[in-house]
Amino acid sequence: MTNPAATLGEFDLIAKYFTRPVRRALLGIGDDCALLQPAPGMQLAISSDMLVDGRHFLSTVSPQRLGHKALAVNLSDLAACGARPLAFSLALALPRADETFLAGFAQGLFALAQEHGCELVGGDTTQGPLNICITVFGELPPGLALLRSGARAGDDLYVSGSVGDARLALECFRGTVNLPGDQFERVRVAMEQPQPRVALGMALRGVATSAIDVSDGLLGDLGHILRRSSVGATVEVDSVPRSAVLAEHTLAWQRECTLAGGDDYELLFTAPPSRAADVQAAGRQAGVAVTRIGRIEASLPLQLIDAQGRSVPQRFGSFDHFKS
Ligand code: ADP
Ligand code: MG
Repeated sequence: MTNPAATLGEFDLIAKYFTRPVRRALLGIGDDCALLQPAPGMQLAISSDMLVDGRHFLSTVSPQRLGHKALAVNLSDLAACGARPLAFSLALALPRADETFLAGFAQGLFALAQEHGCELVGGDTTQGPLNICITVFGELPPGLALLRSGARAGDDLYVSGSVGDARLALECFRGTVNLPGDQFERVRVAMEQPQPRVALGMALRGVATSAIDVSDGLLGDLGHILRRSSVGATVEVDSVPRSAVLAEHTLAWQRECTLAGGDDYELLFTAPPSRAADVQAAGRQAGVAVTRIGRIEASLPLQLIDAQGRSVPQRFGSFDHFKS
């Protein structure tokens, strides 16, 4: 539904839907720059993620969930580094100033922002094909950022929550999978409203040796850790946690969704066996399950094994915007 008058201008739009009082930032929306003040001695962690219509979301997504997801995928990057969210900026291209869309989008966006104490401090607004680019700013103590490069041979490999449901939902939309209504709704929420594991990332500071958030598929993202850390890994593919909905499908399909699904926004991380109890404590503190799914090896190749320890052939790809 479009505002019948359709006269909402750029600055009215910003004022009405995106301007909120800031408390932690020194200066928010309204000037040429926002001003942030990290706590004394803390480092800034910065990350941007763009969401393009038809590429990162389907037009069937509600504005509210889209607002949530646009920020969630960015907070997930802060989580992967163990940073505490501070603020974010929002660059938005909109086909038209549709107030129904804007109201829902702002509601979903600010609900998640408030949950994480993360303030909208600026951005840009323009007319064009729907495109949402958020930059998040977080802080963390020097030397404690979780990086992709810290995995060491002998470390355990873990993943948070469960993976694969977002891919299952996508396949429902594509028409390749059929699910009963209630199951469809559950996996659809996983795809459209992921929960960034911010508390877990912070709890893993000083415990995990490396981390990444799973956005392009578990094995593909694991590959980034392995390359940056110059190590290999063995993954026990059947111990990768999955939902009850996904577990009803064939084993081949479960493996495809859990290992190569993408859009999961869970944390994949490593820690030495001596820190296993601390890893579980971090999960309890953050209120999310953490599951050991394998081990870091001294060198490549990446090996996949099943529950019986037999080798599983690798046929799993990772999402690449310029290859698919
Ligand atoms: P400039 O011309 O200096 O780029 P703009 O006129 O684009 O500034 O924006 C005016 C103010 O509104 C700035 O403080 C900018 O950060 C903010 N702003 C613009 N678009 C958004 C948005 N989508 N969300 C939040 N703040 C925005
Ligand atoms: Mg501008």
